[in-house]
Amino acid sequence: NVRLLDIKKSFATLRVLHGISLDIQSGEFISLLGASGCGKTTLLRIVAGLESVSSGGVEIDGRSVTNLPPEKRDIAMMFQSYALLPHLSVYENVRFPLRMRHIGSRDEQDAQVRAALETVQLGHLAERRPRQLSGGQQQRVALARAIVSKPKVLLLDEPLSNLDARLREDMQVELIEIHKRLGLTTLFVTHDQEEALSLSDRIVLLNAGRIEQQGTPDDIYARPATGFASNFIGSAN
Ligand code: ATP
Repeated sequence: NVRLLDIKKSFATLRVLHGISLDIQSGEFISLLGASGCGKTTLLRIVAGLESVSSGGVEIDGRSVTNLPPEKRDIAMMFQSYALLPHLSVYENVRFPLRMRHIGSRDEQDAQVRAALETVQLGHLAERRPRQLSGGQQQRVALARAIVSKPKVLLLDEPLSNLDARLREDMQVELIEIHKRLGLTTLFVTHDQEEALSLSDRIVLLNAGRIEQQGTPDDIYARPATGFASNFIGSAN
């Protein structure tokens, strides 16, 4: 499981996170929901180790990882921009993190890449370049690359926001399926309340760097605790 302990973060004089504490159970799918600029991405980057904290800490399975670099955290992150390497094949894009971190022998890497590509149903496109794929397929390559090192924790920063409505729904279903099948703990950032409501075990609603409310989708939707929560859920974004 993942614990966030009173995380505060400022950029120079700008205070972005004002003390976020959260216990995330193993296997949980949690959405961080909130308006643009409320600090969702910053929090995710702190969990990933891509951003330092001003104070507070991050624990994974009871171990403090606050000062560990990303590659020592057993976490994978997938961004809104898929950031695939254009000159590498799909196969090599997915193998890339294993190569960089020297994980496994060549044969082991091959087996892991094949398994990740099968998981996202792209085994047949392994030799293509990213530009020869549709947006949805590129998204799947990025997902395969995120899960290839078999992380415990998957961090997703608005991964579906570039997709059209139809594809987005397909990918939502696929994400949940993969989350369950691989037994991942998933932290999903979105400003889209419908997406959060339909995907999550639990929703954490952020407001200007603080947790406004957290609970099951039903709690949040049916019993918003504050005026802010009821406004946010009531609004169409
Ligand atoms: P969005 O939904 O628009 O992505 P967000 O909730 O993810 O928003 P963050 O990206 O976490 O918000 O940004 C929170 C605040 O911190 C914003 O005011 C942003 O301008 C600021 N910020 C983020 N990164 C930096 C940085 N590296 N330096 C200075 N300010 C930053």
